[in-house]
Amino acid sequence: MASHELPKTYDYAEVEQRWQNTWHDEDHYFDRNSTKPQFVIDTPPPYPTGNFHIGNALNWCYIDFIARYKRMKGFNVLFPQGWDCHGLPTEVKVEETHGITKNDVSREEFRQMCRDLTIGNIEKMRKTLRRMAFSVDWSNEYITMMPKYYGKTQLSFLRMLASGYIYQSEHPVNFCTRCETAIAFAEVSYEHRETKLNYFDFDGVEIATTRPELLAACVAVAVHPEDERYQKIWNTTLCVPLFGHKIPVVVDEAVDPSFGSGAVMICTFGDKQDVHWWKQHNLELRKAIDKKGRMTSVAGRYEGMTAPECRTAILSDMKAQDILYRQEPLEQRVGTCWRCKTPIEIMSERQWFVKIKPDEISHAAHQISWVPEHMLLRMENWVAQMEWDWCISRQRIFATPIPVWFCKKCGEMVVPDVQDLPVDPAKDTPKKPCPKCGSKEFAGEEDVLDTWMDSSISVLNVTGWDGCGVPPYFPAQIRPQGHDIIRTWAFYTILRSVALTGQRPWDQILVNGMVLGEDGFKMSKSRGNIIEPFEILDKYGADALRQWGAMGAATGSDIMFNWNDVVSASRFQTKMWNIARFALMQIEKEGPACNAEVTALTDRWLLVKLSKTVAEVTDAMEQYQFDRALKEIREFAWEVLADEYIELVKGRLYAGDTTRAGSCVTLRTTFDTLCRILSPFIPYFAEECYSYLSERSVHSEGWPDFSFADDLAESEGDLLVLVVSELRRYKHEQGMALNAPLGKVTIYAQHTIDDAGDAARTLNADVTWNSDHADLEKVITGVQFNMGVIGPALRKQAKGFMEAIKSLPNDQLANPPATVLVDGDQINVPADSFSPVYAYMVGGAQVEVINVGDVIVTVQKPT
Ligand SMILES: [Zn+2]
Ligand SMILES: [Zn+2]
Repeated sequence: MASHELPKTYDYAEVEQRWQNTWHDEDHYFDRNSTKPQFVIDTPPPYPTGNFHIGNALNWCYIDFIARYKRMKGFNVLFPQGWDCHGLPTEVKVEETHGITKNDVSREEFRQMCRDLTIGNIEKMRKTLRRMAFSVDWSNEYITMMPKYYGKTQLSFLRMLASGYIYQSEHPVNFCTRCETAIAFAEVSYEHRETKLNYFDFDGVEIATTRPELLAACVAVAVHPEDERYQKIWNTTLCVPLFGHKIPVVVDEAVDPSFGSGAVMICTFGDKQDVHWWKQHNLELRKAIDKKGRMTSVAGRYEGMTAPECRTAILSDMKAQDILYRQEPLEQRVGTCWRCKTPIEIMSERQWFVKIKPDEISHAAHQISWVPEHMLLRMENWVAQMEWDWCISRQRIFATPIPVWFCKKCGEMVVPDVQDLPVDPAKDTPKKPCPKCGSKEFAGEEDVLDTWMDSSISVLNVTGWDGCGVPPYFPAQIRPQGHDIIRTWAFYTILRSVALTGQRPWDQILVNGMVLGEDGFKMSKSRGNIIEPFEILDKYGADALRQWGAMGAATGSDIMFNWNDVVSASRFQTKMWNIARFALMQIEKEGPACNAEVTALTDRWLLVKLSKTVAEVTDAMEQYQFDRALKEIREFAWEVLADEYIELVKGRLYAGDTTRAGSCVTLRTTFDTLCRILSPFIPYFAEECYSYLSERSVHSEGWPDFSFADDLAESEGDLLVLVVSELRRYKHEQGMALNAPLGKVTIYAQHTIDDAGDAARTLNADVTWNSDHADLEKVITGVQFNMGVIGPALRKQAKGFMEAIKSLPNDQLANPPATVLVDGDQINVPADSFSPVYAYMVGGAQVEVINVGDVIVTVQKPT
């Protein structure tokens, strides 16, 4: 045991920096030769923006609590750290920083700029992770933009291509014309917008549309089979106004006769319904909008306009031709690009797709335990509404290239050998000539992969997947993630794991909530309610921030940031430090090797409470209820240990009673246990305290399996604590100092308790426990006058009246006579003019009586 005294105050900044410099990365490495049970965590790879935000911090707190707890429970824990690098935001940032567009430099040069920016951002975020004491296994770090990783992404692509999960086809997809790329359904967010429903004359038929700019893409008009108004136009052709091309009228039950005029125009493509009709009725394809959102030659004289420009022009031309009847306002749900909020267009293009097999995904999802349970429902709902396959090709640059070539001569698709991965088909060429025609001329695929194709194999990567079957450490034990990416990251990971291994990816998934601003709203720049982790780290330290993460809310619930929670976390550390100073000083005085038996009631009582706390905290940790676990620890430390136990034993410890050594053993056991159960939450603080108890690191110790049962000690101790606290309250109410002598205290309980003198020393009283019935004698010791009655009733005679009452014998004070003699007159005794004052006597001495439940306590104050 270190023999230096603890400093008076806890300097988190100094302590946290010192331990960060002392700890070794190797302590957190996953041991591939271990015989311990494995606990693999499929951690989320954050997007390297350079800023590890508070939502990340919360998620990582949960992960670290679990990782540290499981290590202490004897598991071989893998806590990897990944970085999900590819994507548009980095491309945009590079364009901004270098003042270029992606087409100004070569693809390779542009990728290099993206990589450089990303590496710098990762380094910044690594610093925050270290500062927050996350026990990451840095030997298992992965970076998705590095060849080692994206080679695996390409391998997974080839495996799924070979097994028929991946195919290419011309099919309508969601397209963002600002990002100039296809996007998946999961990347479409929906917003409510006000638009106008335009009623116009369509070759003699009234049509209502919200998208007049798509008139050039109109390929049919549809009506409902039971709508008699339109029966006469069935199977005719109509001429599209302003454009003049002829289109058929089709009959379809999906038309809503009550919307607009009941006749609807089908365009390629206004929405998902248009895609259905287009397929079902085998209609023509007219592409009126290009990938940059401009009108194509199909739009005739509107060619080159943006869609909104075209809309304005068409409406004004309709007015000019007098075919626009009226416009009505309409609330509309618009699909937008989740990154840039541009309304998406549906475009038919040649793209790559992953087949979605809902039953397979649903089956695997049900084999995973979801925490909280109701999150499974979100997955089920998402799977149930799947209509289209997952579009995985993107028309961008900074992403994993699709490893495919096409023979320029015969069109044959050629893929690389596995040992040649990774490849960039835009740059590299196949090693063999075309197997079909022998040509050596190839065109490399220019499309790249959706970034979810990278991140959805994170679990395969960390469990050691090599492209063949089930990886050695698969499935992982847990996937921690936010509820906002259930339909993307969780969904795609399950899909890919089933497709590549035939199994579920994890045993459990733990879903955390979002962090809201102090005002209860989602954090956003425009609201100005963003809290950055470094602000908290600078002001209160990592342990306080980690406590906030644990205590903020139940796992899975959204958590509102609140500075008060951080402040109270920091106060708890101050309180704990004071407890530590006291406890460690006592333990040191007794000698560290002290092995005395614990006999005193108060000591045994504390060990019972400690044992119950350990059981509760363990149970909460097993269920990932971090708020409950830390609350239990705080209540034990603050109330049971500090306010109750230490107050009771202080006197005994100072006095050097024969049971002192036992108390020190109790304190040491308690303190050792507290450090351990606090260590997953506040690793710096726990390590600092523990360093005064042991040469070892608290983080290399096991989780305590301390148990101590003693029912009698618990019930007697509870009574002792209650009686002492009632008497302390009594002293306070009497205006007495807490250490002022209280005289003789007798506690009449069912049986006597040997409290080793703790109550006596704590109260500064002569305390006796007595199992007899309290033999209390009720006596009248005086009289209390009611001047409100006496004054008005007796006026001048009041004084004499009171003298007369005072001189009455006790029995008459209890039963007042009708009249008394005052100055020679018999006067009436007014009702309620006085009442007798009672007191209790025991053995002839007057005492105060305090009821504590069914226990009677008498106090005979010193004279
Ligand atoms: Zn976009
Ligand atoms: Zn060929």
